Amino acid sequence: NKITIAIDGYSSTGKSTVAKQLAAALGYVYVDTGAMYRAVTLYLMRKMLVSETNFDKEAILRQLPFINISFVFNKELGYGEVHLNGENVEKEIRRLEVSQQVSKVAAISDVRKMLVKIQKKIGENKAVVMDGRDIGTVVFPQADLKLFMTASTEKRAQRRYDELKARGDVIAYEEVLENVKERDYLDTTRADSPLIKAEDAVEIDNSEMTLDNQFQKVLKLAKD
Ligand code: C5P
Repeated sequence: NKITIAIDGYSSTGKSTVAKQLAAALGYVYVDTGAMYRAVTLYLMRKMLVSETNFDKEAILRQLPFINISFVFNKELGYGEVHLNGENVEKEIRRLEVSQQVSKVAAISDVRKMLVKIQKKIGENKAVVMDGRDIGTVVFPQADLKLFMTASTEKRAQRRYDELKARGDVIAYEEVLENVKERDYLDTTRADSPLIKAEDAVEIDNSEMTLDNQFQKVLKLAKD
């Protein structure tokens, strides 16, 4: 079996769904690195340092030493939930408001350094399935299996919209679509660790795949 599995790709391509399935089937630890960038963003939003109209980089950098990100295992879910300075923020970080700011924060090199260090440490002595944007390229360039997930922009926006609506969030589809496009743009064009398919990654376009189809396919890759 592959021990370190890296899953990267564009926003809302179902990375976390497939990562959770794989981790459960193989008994590995699932690590959602997007949740870490989201938690840092939430902290900065609460401090009013990041918003639609505000982005105070100097002040942001001064706050980084006070941000502690950790995962606390949830037995029922079977994976760790992200905690910000000891508070479970798993639900709050999924809000569209956070999605709208996170890629700006993720473009800051010092933020990336801080989180990549934690990610490397988590995967050091453990079998992990980690999903994000730079796992196969930066965090674990030596990963045993790398997947790169894609799907059409509209499909992705629709899935994210359904997800947010199911939680009871009041939002418009157009706004979600805008956000998916905006994050793709920022994530692929930032100077530090832009989102790019690792040369040795297996690309999976799931626009027309059922969840079960996709799972069988990646499970086979993981077990080969
Ligand atoms: O995966 P998720 O959509 O929750 O990630 C939120 C954002 O965090 C991404 O749009 C990206 O800007 C950033 N991110 C990143 N590197 C990662 C994971 C997420 O830059 N490894």
